Amino acid sequence: LIVGVVAETGAGETRVALVPAAAARLIASGMQVVVERGAGQASLIGDDQYLAAGAPVVDRAEAWRSKVVVKVAPPSEGEVAQLAAGSTLIGFLSPRSADNRIAALEAAGVTAFAMEAIPRISRAQTMDALSSQANVAGYKAVVLAASLCTRFFPMLTTAAGTVRPARLLVLGVGVAGLQALATAKRLGARATGYDVRPEVADQVRSVGAQWLDLGIAAEGEGGYARALDDAEREAQQKALETAIMGFDVVITTALVPGRAAPRLVTAAAARGMKPGSVIVDLAGESGGNCELTEPGETVRRDGVIIASPLNLPATMPEHASELYTKNVTSLLELLITDGALDPDFSDQIVAESCVARARPMAEAASEGAR
Ligand code: NAD
Repeated sequence: LIVGVVAETGAGETRVALVPAAAARLIASGMQVVVERGAGQASLIGDDQYLAAGAPVVDRAEAWRSKVVVKVAPPSEGEVAQLAAGSTLIGFLSPRSADNRIAALEAAGVTAFAMEAIPRISRAQTMDALSSQANVAGYKAVVLAASLCTRFFPMLTTAAGTVRPARLLVLGVGVAGLQALATAKRLGARATGYDVRPEVADQVRSVGAQWLDLGIAAEGEGGYARALDDAEREAQQKALETAIMGFDVVITTALVPGRAAPRLVTAAAARGMKPGSVIVDLAGESGGNCELTEPGETVRRDGVIIASPLNLPATMPEHASELYTKNVTSLLELLITDGALDPDFSDQIVAESCVARARPMAEAASEGAR
């Protein structure tokens, strides 16, 4: 079984789907791994490191013709065309996006597993790439906020005076939000968390942060939030307008599956913060949680800095790739039996993450004859 590691071609993408140490482990377990020339370069991993791990470095076309292709970001149209019929693709594939990429994969006879479609169940924790990458984003959001902020995060008692700790609020405490709170605590800020899922309160307290209760509960299915109705949204925005004024830094991460990001922070709320305060909006890719957010940009409005970085995990390619590799190899282990690719489609993880399934040759041929 040949596993091909291909180079990422998306703008700003620096991660690689399989790091050399994991390639060596797959090879030791009887697989072959080939790596597209330069695939690790943006993650500061040289071709020589893959060679030393026992993985030949090959040209682009050969890597894409592997039986199993692993990558990070969704393939472009041209990349789909490079996949061989009967091959398997593993990566973030944006199965909900409307660009017909999944249909194209199926038409090309490719079976595809989307990392973002892996169910969030205990047995799949090691494969949960949404979580591993959200951890990176949550951490980096706070580090970014600290560097943009004109104030210290920790309390300082010095001969020149005492500095009060920064007050930081996280809106949306999923995986990224919880990591943001924990990181803010480590930097010495006074951290507060808010979410519409009341069960999150204990998790917020467990990292030493305070819980902000606005009295709005909106639990949805599968551990996610549901969208608020108009009255709830208005009440939430109003309550947050008052609450936010007291904070130096706001990190927003709120998402609802399949929807545009909820607007939590109105323009008035953002402008109501003290000049020099910072908002880091992690929901920019889904439109943003703040009305003043410009996805991918850092703007200043009435002295308040609003940053909406896209693809933060790609700013930390070393660890982001290492964690993603663990997710991908855990899924591979589930798909492989006795050295052969043999997905058990009755397994919940396999069934839910499989977003394109090549039909058996006989079935496709008989349909073609019809
Ligand atoms: P997410 O990225 O979908 O959303 C981030 C947060 O935004 C969520 O906590 C959500 O409740 C919150 N949110 C949505 N709308 C909001 C609003 N209007 N106001 C305030 N907050 C709002 O979430 P995620 O990080 O992917 O995590 C979702 C859940 O899945 C969490 O409960 C997490 O613990 C759980 N999870 C479970 C497992 C597992 O059991 N293996 C693994 C990972 C995550």
